[in-house]
Amino acid sequence: MTIVDTPERRQLRELTRAFVTREVLPHLADWERAGEVPRELHATAAKIGLLGIGFPESVGGSGGDLLDSIVVTEEIIRSGGSSGLIAALFTHGIALPHMVAAAGGQSGGLLRGRLGGGQLRGDDDLVDRYVRPTLAGTMIGALAITEPDGGSDVAAIRTTARRDGDHYVVNGSKTYITSGVRADFVTTAVCTDFPGSGELSLLVIDKGTPGFTVGRRLEKLGWHCSDTAELSFVDVRVPVTNRIGEENTGFLAIMQHFAAERLSLATQAYATAQRCVELATRWCRDRATFGRPLASRQLIRHRLAEMHTRAEAARAYVHEVAARVAAGEPVVTEVAMAKNVAVAACDQVVDQALQLHGGFGYLRDAEVERHYRDARILGIGGGTTEIMNEIIAKGMGL
Ligand SMILES: Cc1cc2nc3c(=O)[nH]c(=O)nc-3n(C[C@H](O)[C@H](O)[C@H](O)COP(=O)(O)OP(=O)(O)OC[C@H]3O[C@@H](n4cnc5c(N)ncnc54)[C@H](O)[C@@H]3O)c2cc1C
Repeated sequence: MTIVDTPERRQLRELTRAFVTREVLPHLADWERAGEVPRELHATAAKIGLLGIGFPESVGGSGGDLLDSIVVTEEIIRSGGSSGLIAALFTHGIALPHMVAAAGGQSGGLLRGRLGGGQLRGDDDLVDRYVRPTLAGTMIGALAITEPDGGSDVAAIRTTARRDGDHYVVNGSKTYITSGVRADFVTTAVCTDFPGSGELSLLVIDKGTPGFTVGRRLEKLGWHCSDTAELSFVDVRVPVTNRIGEENTGFLAIMQHFAAERLSLATQAYATAQRCVELATRWCRDRATFGRPLASRQLIRHRLAEMHTRAEAARAYVHEVAARVAAGEPVVTEVAMAKNVAVAACDQVVDQALQLHGGFGYLRDAEVERHYRDARILGIGGGTTEIMNEIIAKGMGL
């Protein structure tokens, strides 16, 4: 199984490449300095149908499945964009799918036959209020799971939501939330029983709700164009109608949607590796030392060959696992392996690509420098490399 390169997908690649060339590359350095991408970029991406890829037309998306989303992610980075840009512009890829699924829809092709389809309580109201405007590029959403006390142990979430009539009263805090500074709403994981019970629910919380404070913008090693925030909730009253699905189904929903996030991060990893191979190859052809181009030396040629092999092998494996997920196969272990394989390939390739650039590779002017910094998060976000290994070990029966 793999991702078949249909004429439609070739068109999608061309559309994505044109978007990056025209709308992103002239401004990316400014956005990196500003610490965020402008809201207008969301509207521009929506207008050409890019923002809604992987979401059904019935909820305002552009159609397509998980594999089409992977094609877009890959092409953005291969065209000179970055994983940070994807984090900022496509945060809805993690903020919306639970809502779409609860309304009985599918996104990214991931939910086929998984969430019980029609059995789930549909919530068209949430789709109208949050999903459609976000896919139209007029709203920005975020997903808040991680808390200051820990992110890996999702069941240990301590942010509580106590029922009070038609509302929940939410108390707690979240951290490292992507697009948290700009977000108009936050899909928030809360504990709807005693803290640490693992009984979780997902609530959509609007910016501006009394008691909900967006804290400082967090400064980071990489992903500079993606804003990251701490969030605080003190007696925040959230209407029960803002709950996604049934009470206490949040943990399952979070786990099911992790697969798409992990495959996206795996895609960002191998695509970053591929881009860095291209950058390093170009550099080694042009750069001469001791009277000869670097690329004429066997040591350099072999290093580039090994980098290329690693990146392509990672891509092939991620594509295979993604195709199996899209076909509805329960491949949780394989998704974890795909993320770790791609992240390991990326870490090694970006490091060697920067080394081949010499001193220039260390400068802010060098694209490879940005990829080197951006890549470091890929083995942390969406479940760390160690947590992926735990899943793999369980899959081995250990
Ligand atoms: C830039 C950025 C963006 C992010 N965006 C979001 C977002 O949008 N929404 C969101 O909810 N979160 C987000 N996160 C949080 C991210 O998902 C967490 O950082 C990640 O899940 C790890 O959680 P933690 O930082 O609390 O580390 P911890 O859970 O405290 O883990 C610390 C270390 O211990 C290891 N470890 C933990 N448990 C075990 C174990 N049982 N066995 C072996 N090793 C273990 C981990 O692998 C890690 O190396 C983001 C983080 C960053 C940095």
